[in-house]
Amino acid sequence: MKTPISVALGDGIGPEIMKATLHVLHAAGAQIEIHDVEIGEKMYLKGFASGMDPKMWDTIRHTKAFLKAPITTPQGGGFKSLNVTVRTTLGLYANVRPCVSYFPFVETKHPEMDVVIVRENEEDLYAGIEYQQSPDVCCSIKLISRPGCEKIIRYAFEYAKNHQRKKVTCFTKDNIMKHSDGLFHKVFDEIAFEYPDILNEHWIVDIGAAKLADTPEVFDVIVMPNLYGDILSDVAAQIAGSVGLAGSANIGDFGAMFEAIHGSAPRRANQNVANPSGLMLAAIQMMAHIGQPEVAERFHNAWLRTLEEGIHTYDIFKEGVSKKKVGTQEFAEAVIANLGKKPEQLTPVAYQTGSSPALHRHAASQAARHLVGVDVYLYHKGPLADFMSRISHINAGPLHLQAIFNRGVKLWPGGQPETFCIEQWRCRFTSGEDLRPISQHEVIQILQAFDHINMDVTKSEGLYTFNGKPGYS
Ligand code: NAD
Repeated sequence: MKTPISVALGDGIGPEIMKATLHVLHAAGAQIEIHDVEIGEKMYLKGFASGMDPKMWDTIRHTKAFLKAPITTPQGGGFKSLNVTVRTTLGLYANVRPCVSYFPFVETKHPEMDVVIVRENEEDLYAGIEYQQSPDVCCSIKLISRPGCEKIIRYAFEYAKNHQRKKVTCFTKDNIMKHSDGLFHKVFDEIAFEYPDILNEHWIVDIGAAKLADTPEVFDVIVMPNLYGDILSDVAAQIAGSVGLAGSANIGDFGAMFEAIHGSAPRRANQNVANPSGLMLAAIQMMAHIGQPEVAERFHNAWLRTLEEGIHTYDIFKEGVSKKKVGTQEFAEAVIANLGKKPEQLTPVAYQTGSSPALHRHAASQAARHLVGVDVYLYHKGPLADFMSRISHINAGPLHLQAIFNRGVKLWPGGQPETFCIEQWRCRFTSGEDLRPISQHEVIQILQAFDHINMDVTKSEGLYTFNGKPGYS
């Protein structure tokens, strides 16, 4: 039985590295049925804003996995990221990027490094919720949900279990973002408790990133929200040796996408020089994912053996270490010649069945939730004194004006004259110190009151308590 997979050749070096990768896959005995998907520059220029004809969704949906070569994003605005579109449309919530050093065959300062970054792929600042609220002010929303955290964190622990990894580390910035990153950390602690055989730890992302860059060998699997994962997975791939040697998997419940982490390197296209290793390692992840671990193992070990034989493409070729400089297709032939062999110095890999995505379950939260106030964002140009005098006539009904903020700094009561202010002001209204529950009607009355004094409300945000605890900063 062959497994159907979608394949996109991409742009630039994409077709060459895909040809090399498919050549080795077939030689390694992959039981796959290929369905071509056209994506990339040509499709963008034909007018498809996300670089793909929407008809292709059916093909991708009906195959088990999508092996994608890099694409070129045309210059100019108005183009949507194809990757983000595929990830969010198909719910590919886990981005898995192994970052391994191949010392002494590939130069690195970290010979012992073997880290897997598990990045949340759908939420955080990548939810794409952005606004320009006034001429000088823009705002992006960092969205973190409990189901989103549960899916990715459980995936990280299941990945560790299935790949005989010993430790899962979580990076957040919950000392500053106590609610959003705080939720990620809290869910991490809850889920870690279910895996007593796997060590767990949490680092604040700044010092964690510094430690990762300095001594990556102390980490094993690291799970983190989307933005930190985006940045640190590139750092980790680079310090392991080269971003050209890393593949990544985007895993969801209904599909999965596999790709190299580098781009389409247009300047290297059509010269048979590009290194196909990133896409090859992505394809190896795909074979394990679709239940053909023996093919993944044969391919991966042959690839490691080729690397340690010093058969290198130009990007990793180094006099004294490398033995033979080869082109893209010659590299593939060398890997094929090594199928069935294992590396002698680098550690051989072993894949097992059962390393498919984790089944996750979402425990519905039961907290008692009450509306107790509202933050109203107002557009106003001018100093605080002006602003205060404009809003002094507002009829807030039963609610109290509790505070005025600018860029998160409290200016009233008790502000300091040095604080720099922008044209976005935030007034906090609550029911009082006892935080009595209020109605939506009282919120609407406040918004109407600003309308009556001709003040421009750019946004409002309900203030809620959960089991009596404020759910706002
Ligand atoms: P890039 O990764 O394509 O290339 C940067 C440099 O890295 C190249 O000039 C080349 O010297 C080297 N390089 C990259 N991959 C290599 C390989 N396999 N073998 C040998 N050398 C390699 O980054 P870029 O130049 O910033 O982007 C080029 C295009 O790729 C842009 O249009 C960008 O939008 C796109 N891009 C696509 C993806 C994707 O499809 N997933 C990811 C990143 C960038």
